[in-house]
Amino acid sequence: MNRPYDPDNLFARILDGRLPASVIDEDATNLSFTDINPQAPQHHLVIPRGSYTDLSDFAARGSDAELAAWVRALARVAEKSGVADAGYRVIVNSGGDGGQEVPHLHGHVLGGAPLGAMLGALLGASPRGTAG
Ligand code: AMP
Repeated sequence: MNRPYDPDNLFARILDGRLPASVIDEDATNLSFTDINPQAPQHHLVIPRGSYTDLSDFAARGSDAELAAWVRALARVAEKSGVADAGYRVIVNSGGDGGQEVPHLHGHVLGGAPLGAMLGALLGASPRGTAG
C-alpha cells in the first residue's frame, strides 16, 4: 500500500512531543507507550521513530537495523510489562481491512491474562463479501 505519510497523525504528534504519552521503553529508533484504551491488563504500542505508515511501508523502506530494533523493542516491552513469561500477543493492524486506525506503524503488545482465540468474536463470522 502506498499511502502518503501524514506528519500530523496521532503518533507523529506523540513522537515530536505535541501529545503526551505514558512511555514504557525507548531506544534510538523506537518509542513504546501504553495504549490509551487498553484491550488487556497490559497493552502497549511500539512505534518506530521513522515516518512509516504501516508494516508494508516499513518492510519496504526501513533499514535492516530499524527492522531488527523494532522487533527487539516489541520483545523488550513484553519483558518490561511483565508478560513475557506467561505469554503475550503482538498485533500489527495494517491498512483498512486490517483495522488500522492510526497511520503510523505500531505493534500492539498485549498480555496479563489469557487472551483467548486469536480473532475473538470474528471467529465464525462470515468474511466480508461472501454469502452467509
Ligand atoms: P490501530 O487500530 O491498530 O491503529 O490502533 C490504534 C491504537 O492507538 C488503539 O488501540 C488506540 O487505543 C490507541 N491510541 C489512540 N490514541 C492514543 C494515544 N493518544 N495514546 C496512546 N494510545 C492511543
